[in-house]
Amino acid sequence: MERTRRDFMTRVGGIVAAGAVVQAHAAAGSKTKDESEKTAALTPHKQPPLPYTYDALEPYMDARTVELHYTKHHAGYVNGLNAAEAELAKARDANDFRMIQHWSRKAAFMGGGAFLHALYWSCMAPPASAEREPRGALAAKLVNDFGNIPAFKAQFTSVAETVEGSGWGVLAYRPEDRRLIVLQAENHQKLSPWDATPVLCIDVWEHAYYLKYQNRRADFIAAWWNLVDWEQVAKNLDAAP
Ligand code: MN
Repeated sequence: MERTRRDFMTRVGGIVAAGAVVQAHAAAGSKTKDESEKTAALTPHKQPPLPYTYDALEPYMDARTVELHYTKHHAGYVNGLNAAEAELAKARDANDFRMIQHWSRKAAFMGGGAFLHALYWSCMAPPASAEREPRGALAAKLVNDFGNIPAFKAQFTSVAETVEGSGWGVLAYRPEDRRLIVLQAENHQKLSPWDATPVLCIDVWEHAYYLKYQNRRADFIAAWWNLVDWEQVAKNLDAAP
């Protein structure tokens, strides 16, 4: 309690004034704070622009799917992350953490969705313009870490095909041993190790493919390989911590 109060006073600045406010606040319950007590302002997350037109990934990914996926699903996760962070800020302001588990879960789910969708769009390119296969240092890295590139693709494909329900296949860089690893994510956030940075991902939620492929997830994954922008994946690997 003492620590919480000290932290709170530090945040709002002006110990004497803040101390008085804290006591008034504690006496009056959690709904009486005025504007002067606001803590650090949030920076709203923004959805990155889609790097191509909705129909640019045809015929492997249809325009309607891209449009709905980007404008409804992805946008929803960004908005949801902002909403969750606003609720967490309110909880701090009010020192009322009764809903902390709910909003922490929401922040992880929405934040995972916002991040992975941005990566997903950026790692695809119109089929005519995409590098069709990994080259150079990225290709060498894949061979080093997976034995050969077909073995990497087989593992990644298998991971994506077998996600239970909704989720992702992810290629990630792990700085501890400097290796690329293939991960399976459930929803957007489950099974994620803390120490690996995603550099390529495929969305295998049904909303990613159902209009064109219905239940044939494996067909969608096979088609998706034609859209991977390996140059961007190489840049992501270079930029990984
Ligand atoms: Mn999605």
